[in-house]
Amino acid sequence: MVTIRLHNTLTRRKEVFEPLDPMNVRMYVCGPTVYDRAHLGNGRPVVVFDTLFRLLRHVYGPDHVTYARNFTDVDDKINAEAQRRKAAGAPGTLEDLIRERTEETIAWYHQDMDALGALRPTFEPRATDYIGAMQAMISDLIASGHAYAAEGHVLFRVRSYAGYGRLSGRSVDDMIAGARVEVAPFKEDPMDFVLWKPSDEGLPGWDSPWGRGRPGWHIECSAMSYELFGPAFDIHGGGIDLQFPHHENEIAQSCCAHPSAGFAKVWMHNEMLQVEGKKMSKSLGNFFTVRDLLDQGHPGEVIRFVYLGTHYSKPMDWTAEKAAQAKATLTKWREITAAAGQGAPSDAVIAALADDLNTAGAIAELHALAAAGDAGTLKASAALLGLLEDGMGGWLDTGVDLAPLAARLADLREAAKATKDFAAVDALKSALIAAGVEVRMSKDDVELRPGPDFDAAKLEPLR
Ligand SMILES: [Zn+2]
Repeated sequence: MVTIRLHNTLTRRKEVFEPLDPMNVRMYVCGPTVYDRAHLGNGRPVVVFDTLFRLLRHVYGPDHVTYARNFTDVDDKINAEAQRRKAAGAPGTLEDLIRERTEETIAWYHQDMDALGALRPTFEPRATDYIGAMQAMISDLIASGHAYAAEGHVLFRVRSYAGYGRLSGRSVDDMIAGARVEVAPFKEDPMDFVLWKPSDEGLPGWDSPWGRGRPGWHIECSAMSYELFGPAFDIHGGGIDLQFPHHENEIAQSCCAHPSAGFAKVWMHNEMLQVEGKKMSKSLGNFFTVRDLLDQGHPGEVIRFVYLGTHYSKPMDWTAEKAAQAKATLTKWREITAAAGQGAPSDAVIAALADDLNTAGAIAELHALAAAGDAGTLKASAALLGLLEDGMGGWLDTGVDLAPLAARLADLREAAKATKDFAAVDALKSALIAAGVEVRMSKDDVELRPGPDFDAAKLEPLR
């Protein structure tokens, strides 16, 4: 059995991973709030924890690993978007518009994360399907003195849980000193956080012992992980931005609701992402969704490779140069492995991944296998990182062949300028469009790119 070591945020140490039950290894990762396209930073934990999921499946067997990632489909941003649409005259009730927005966003999320080669988790629970479980947990917390109802709200009594702050290494008093939030009058203590809040007429709400309302965000993950995994499980993951307060609050809720269970054993956090050395922001004009990059012609496999080139615990920088290098490397590796037979993954690649998911080290080992021409081992090893998989290489059949056709189209146009007969230019252009090629002709340039309906076979007669 391979020994996996993982850095545990809770203990601040790299530890040997020992599952509670090797026949049922359980991992929960906080998923997206579904009101908009996933940006490049949102894609990072998806690829990081997908790679861990693949490693766990390899070591414990695919039937012995369960992975849950939630959809937060009740949220003020979703409500605001639905209200905006309603104000703009969209048909349907507010509930219809909320459902429309969340369904649409979940479909986008699946398309974009599939394009990154991420396996679908075993469970993708939606918060709105677990409102009853959240209410049950909130009632338990009130009964045990860890929460209290006030003015239609229910709040978690932070001072009632001595372990609060352990994950993020902060003391409650430091947190209060650092907090600049306005304190609601119904709070006993400024640190207390919302488990339930009231909904007025214009907002989605559920009946509850505390009046019509909706859950706070943190209770969702505590309730859903309990329903799917029970009170204790192996790994809880997410971005470092969720460590405080979201994960700290999840621990407080779950450990007070199920005091002897222990909740998640290992906590893992991925670092944030930058673009060309700068924080990604709309105001800097360097804000990209995963879909933007796919539409710009970066294949999902290339984006995935760039993510995995940096260890998950380090900030990662997306650069055009890295994307170009990744594309060149994957092109070469796909040529080497095109006719590869069935191989087994290399021990060195497995050892790198088992060492706290050292993906950069694993990629270095893949380079060594490519240099040695060991195609079968390269392909099988790359699959552990979700690379060189059969369904992911479609991008390779395209860009390479289009350059000669672009040159020919440019030549025909040059010739037509003299003769004033553009028939040949139009014929070639129409044939390219019929093959699903996007044709862009500017004054001195011709650019051809495979579009979504690209069909390489239809180009054969043009060669
Ligand atoms: Zn969560």
